[in-house]
Amino acid sequence: MRLAAPQAVQPFLLMEEIDNSQKKGKVYLVGAGPGDPGLITVRGRYLLEKAEVIVYDYLASRRLLTYVPADAQFVYAGKRGGVKHTHTQDEINQMLVDFAQEGKIVVRLKGGDPFIFGRGGEELEVLAKHNVSFEVVPGVTSATAAATYAGIPITHRDYTASVAFLTGHEDPTKDKSNIDWQKIATGIGTIVVYMGIKNLPFIVKNLIDNGRSPQTPVAVVRWASTPEQRSVVGTLADIADIVKESEIKPPALIVIGEVVNLRGTLDWFEKRALFGKRIIVTRTREQASELVAGLEENGASCYECSTINIEPVEDYHILDEALERINEYHWILFTSLNGVKYFFKRLYDKGLDARDLKGPDIGVVGKSTADLLLEYGVNADLIPPVFTGEGLAESLLDQGVEGRNVLIPRAVEGREILPETLRGAGAQVTIAPLYINVPPQGRRDELRAELESGEVGMVTFTSSSTVRNFLTMVDAESQEELEQLMAGVKIAAIGPITAKTVTDSGLKVDVQPSQYTIISMIKAIIDFYQC
Ligand code: SAH
Repeated sequence: MRLAAPQAVQPFLLMEEIDNSQKKGKVYLVGAGPGDPGLITVRGRYLLEKAEVIVYDYLASRRLLTYVPADAQFVYAGKRGGVKHTHTQDEINQMLVDFAQEGKIVVRLKGGDPFIFGRGGEELEVLAKHNVSFEVVPGVTSATAAATYAGIPITHRDYTASVAFLTGHEDPTKDKSNIDWQKIATGIGTIVVYMGIKNLPFIVKNLIDNGRSPQTPVAVVRWASTPEQRSVVGTLADIADIVKESEIKPPALIVIGEVVNLRGTLDWFEKRALFGKRIIVTRTREQASELVAGLEENGASCYECSTINIEPVEDYHILDEALERINEYHWILFTSLNGVKYFFKRLYDKGLDARDLKGPDIGVVGKSTADLLLEYGVNADLIPPVFTGEGLAESLLDQGVEGRNVLIPRAVEGREILPETLRGAGAQVTIAPLYINVPPQGRRDELRAELESGEVGMVTFTSSSTVRNFLTMVDAESQEELEQLMAGVKIAAIGPITAKTVTDSGLKVDVQPSQYTIISMIKAIIDFYQC
């Protein structure tokens, strides 16, 4: 899925755009930062927004690709230690030259900083040789990120005045090392080793043999700055065994030096309330996930599972007829965000806008719907104290609905409780179907693999249809199999209707916020894990 690129914070023009007649290709070598997409530089992000071709690496966060225009050409260059390379370095170099010579704006996105063990220099040398113009944007290198996100200041006046970045990738059987271990072992305060997991026993031996104390503290940090971060701490004497036992695999960094001891006091990232929790967030593909953002802000690792695709209906005649006599309606009721979205889309398509809605009063099912409505310039007249269809019906009954004309723009298949209650009380209700909820196909295996991994701690549901479609996607053959797949997985449901759909399917709800909003849901999940 590709999100709309957020607006750049300041106007930004590339030379190629200022003088298009001169448009020659150019390669922008951009550091993606260590993993958290928020750690790319502002210039790096601008360039992603301008890319016509993006060539990206294994270590660059996939989420950064959402900034790249959808019509750009996406090329995965791969490269991952120990795994068969998708493209050789020569192929990548040639590709960059070819794209630039076609006149393209090429962004070459690399994990961390392109010039720190990133072969950025080599790629640029080839470009220079072919007279291709280029620019470089530095990035936050994983060494500083790993230390920072493990709560280790890489330098500290009381402990060290020097830092060295080493590669641990050297072949230990090589006759002569490019690293002068003798000088490094005692001559440098903090030592950070990239690509060193495989050779860790050899690295610690070299340091100890050359005079560094075996008691020197060491931290090893995997996938630094991401929700998957894992770290272990030991000493030069025992870190190799600890890493082996805890099965820490690349990509990981080794931080060696007295500063590691500060982690005890300064660890902040791994202390967040939901750190290390894997949460499946079911949602509709169209809706931006505030829930994912809130959970991740607190450290959770989310698997976003789109359970519904929203598609507009082909025939809008019921809404069109209603809009022609909109002033005869006393109420328009919105029971979903998509109801608001598709209603206004049709309104605008017909050349109308919010001013044409001044006749009827407007009721909404809850606060988020009211908030979205306000973005279209309309303040809701009625938000029920209880954010459900029943709650809305009750609030309307209190006002008396007999003989009132009510318009409900909503999904083709929606809950009937609101229209039925209102009709029962004498209202004339028009349901205008605007969109269809379609369960997406083909995600069964991926979702099952997640559940079978045993790592999922919780699944969240924000509507009954997300529950139903999740169950369809899981496709369990029996109740027993479903319970087996969901064993140990907690369930959070946004409100009583969603919760009932969960319990009707034989599963148990563990978290349910008192207010049916995303923010309350996030708070309830945090509370659940904290007590
Ligand atoms: N140019 C990159 C380094 C590429 S070398 C940079 O500046 O960070 C690849 C090595 O970087 C990996 O083997 C690992 O040691 C380290 N690395 C990259 N991203 C990492 C991350 N998020 N967490 C831990 N180590 C990482």
